Amino acid sequence: MLKSILFDMDGVLFDSMPYHAVAWAKVCNEYGLAMTEEEVYMNEGRTGFSTINMLTKRQWGRETTEEEVEHIYQLKCIAFNEFPPAPKMPGTESLLTQVKASGRTIMVVTGSGQASLLDRLTTNYPGFFRPELIVCSHDVKHGKPNPEPYLMGLQKLGAALNPDGAPLRPWEALVVENAPLGVRAGVAAGVFTIAANTGPLPDSALLDEGANLIFPSMQAFSDAWGSLNL
Ligand code: MG
Repeated sequence: MLKSILFDMDGVLFDSMPYHAVAWAKVCNEYGLAMTEEEVYMNEGRTGFSTINMLTKRQWGRETTEEEVEHIYQLKCIAFNEFPPAPKMPGTESLLTQVKASGRTIMVVTGSGQASLLDRLTTNYPGFFRPELIVCSHDVKHGKPNPEPYLMGLQKLGAALNPDGAPLRPWEALVVENAPLGVRAGVAAGVFTIAANTGPLPDSALLDEGANLIFPSMQAFSDAWGSLNL
């Protein structure tokens, strides 16, 4: 019995990954931490802390510090905000409309803490999202690829939907992801995970992480929704 769809944000709701990739690579390289745009896509979903810590461990042989994370993430947000606003992902609004009409509850589960995007959820997609049904980087300790964010999503949904407040069960939900580590997190939470490959990585990057179903775009997913019998 499907009650809810948990949507990732970057690369699913907004076509924002090209900007994130350039901004992360530029700021990290200027900071002395080598990072390619492809690595940004491969590590998409991690929190800012986790991303920076991965780089300092590998290249400087040590854990990062709170100060470094705050500084680099701030620079990255500035670089990201120099781009025009990331467009809504084509096909996503028509999918959200169908999901809502089917009576399922919509939730956002993102590793991002980028206020400029989180604030746009309710203005760019009016009527679809509720503030209490969003998990972002500020809510979690580990972040994706740990299942924690999606498990927290099931908890928040249960608190909102179930009379006794018990978490939703994994089979009562679906995850929609565009990133390999996001797929890994959804699968690890035990939730049926649908991948939309909206970026430059090969389908195998998503299928190898256990994606249960894959579409080449959110538009293709939206077009197929009616025939999925969910
Ligand atoms: Mg994403």
